[in-house]
Amino acid sequence: MAAQIIDGKTIARQVRAEWKVRADALKARGVTPGLAVIIVGEDPASRVYVANKVKACAELGLHSEHIALPADTSEATLLAKIAELNANPKIHGLLVQLPVPKHIDSNKVTEAISPDKDVDGFHQMNVGALVTGNTRFPPCTPYGAMKLLEESGIGIEGKHAVVVGRSNIVGKPMALMLLQQNATVTICTSKTADLAKFTRDADILVVATGKPKMVTGDMVKPGAAVIDVGINRLPDGKLCGDVDFDSAKEVAGWITPVPGGVGPMTITMLMANTVQAAERAAN
Ligand code: NDP
Repeated sequence: MAAQIIDGKTIARQVRAEWKVRADALKARGVTPGLAVIIVGEDPASRVYVANKVKACAELGLHSEHIALPADTSEATLLAKIAELNANPKIHGLLVQLPVPKHIDSNKVTEAISPDKDVDGFHQMNVGALVTGNTRFPPCTPYGAMKLLEESGIGIEGKHAVVVGRSNIVGKPMALMLLQQNATVTICTSKTADLAKFTRDADILVVATGKPKMVTGDMVKPGAAVIDVGINRLPDGKLCGDVDFDSAKEVAGWITPVPGGVGPMTITMLMANTVQAAERAAN
């Protein structure tokens, strides 16, 4: 039987509506949640992401500031801008769109953002909070993937969750969040011997490798929940995930499409983190 498709667009819309209620409640108290997004340079994909973040803020009635700096901006200038926004009471969430140009140390940038405004959840203090189970800002993409599981009624406790990929922004935090929800978690990487042995044993399979369609239906356990984080552009211009959707959907119990699965959730959870930062500041 073909899998149930997890509709990220619809779930994102519902989740945004819930957070808009919280944002409106803050506004009624005189606090408009504010997000500042800094972009350095001309990377076309980054520009699209930033434009979408600003658009989402408008949709939820949040204040947003979009700071576009030229590619030759010095590290010192960028750090000074971050310090200025850290001190700005209208701004509750602050992020620098990555990647930054090579002459800028991205670690220094991440650590310069106030942990109280770090809505991406990349600051070491927030990473540490996640590791210890005292999460403050869950990184947005895995946060969105968790929300998709929750909203689809897919139980996590006691399940075997396999995460393919160990990046700091997706794979590792995803594994930690699943662990926090009492899944038994396996992390696979490019060095894993016999990847299919692990994926075929997964009740929940999260794939974040950046390798188009690498997980095929024969690697999926019948009835499993498959969360495809990948976004890849094929030579014909179409988008596809890291999972071969057509074969996997015949085996899985649930599956996210690409586009329209995890993608719409990422910015939604950024909005959630921004509203939450404003709530903390207001209280
Ligand atoms: P990274 O390149 O940082 O990490 C990829 C990970 O996949 C690495 O840990 C790597 O292992 C592992 N990997 C690569 N090839 C294999 C393989 N053959 N078998 C097992 N593991 C493998 O990517 P990201 O985590 O940043 O992104 C992953 C995907 O998610 C991309 O397609 C990206 O576009 C997408 N993405 C989507 C977002 C969204 O909003 N939906 C947001 C962020 C990312 P190793 O560590 O050993 O090299």
